[in-house]
Amino acid sequence: MPEQWIFLNDEYVTKENAKVSVYDHGFLYGDGVFEGIRVYGGNIFRMKEHMERLYNSAKSILLNIPYSEDELTKIIANTIEKNNVEDAYIRVVVSRGIGDLGLDPYKCPKASVVVIVEPLSIFPKELYESGLEIVTVATRRNRPDVLSPKVKSLNYLNNVLVKIEAHLANVSEALMLNDQGYVAEGSADNVFILKNGCFYTPPGYVGALDGITRNAVIDIAQELGYEVKEEPFTRHDVYTADEVFLTGTAAEVIAVVKVDGRTIGDGVPGIHTKKLLAKFRERVVLEGVKVYTESTPNVS
Ligand code: PMP
Repeated sequence: MPEQWIFLNDEYVTKENAKVSVYDHGFLYGDGVFEGIRVYGGNIFRMKEHMERLYNSAKSILLNIPYSEDELTKIIANTIEKNNVEDAYIRVVVSRGIGDLGLDPYKCPKASVVVIVEPLSIFPKELYESGLEIVTVATRRNRPDVLSPKVKSLNYLNNVLVKIEAHLANVSEALMLNDQGYVAEGSADNVFILKNGCFYTPPGYVGALDGITRNAVIDIAQELGYEVKEEPFTRHDVYTADEVFLTGTAAEVIAVVKVDGRTIGDGVPGIHTKKLLAKFRERVVLEGVKVYTESTPNVS
């Protein structure tokens, strides 16, 4: 197995040596932000959008990322290159850094920055053929006025609880509703339904992450001539939809064929979902950009 290199605070270290302090506030309090990004055939998909979301999330929680967007982009490109991979999932984590045991972020002088590059497929290949069975769960999405779902923070307890409920129900993913009972999103993915030829996905104010795959799929669907509406919908709308699918950087586009025991359509991935997945896979290769590393900041 070739060595896996991880970028950790200005240097590249091996996986075994990639350690952060127990006084890091990312560990103590989930104080930080992160991104999940994909590289396809050496091209990074929608890098600008990922960087924008990361820096906006950090701004929202007054976290100073100690690199410019351009520098961090090059660090990510360098980490990909150092690991000699063409197709991979990239995790970028920026935590508040090391402080004392108290909450006070002003006692953390410097953010910790981690870039991990590794092969990943969250759902087995067969599930893309068969589609997922999912449930809706009791855990509600954070209210946007409590902790904005637009901030991709390290506070994922809410999402972890969803995953636990999915496991308890013997399925691999689940949908959260918001505090008003409208469908928000999955534990780590956005949701779409198709009804009478029109795709619907919850708008941001319902309480979903502003998913980059979601936005790419909206672009693709519109280019293919579909109508797409960002409108709140309920569980009833999901149960009676013609097709249902989830989107995410890790999940890509994956069909859902059963929700809370209700079969969706014919109980197999729908033709429109399949069309979107095919176009999405074509698009990620074409649209991704190579990030050149000549002027990477001076990190060993
Ligand atoms: N919602 C949540 C809560 C997520 O963690 C993710 C994964 N980043 C998504 C949606 C999908 O967003 P994206 O397409 O940007 O990966």
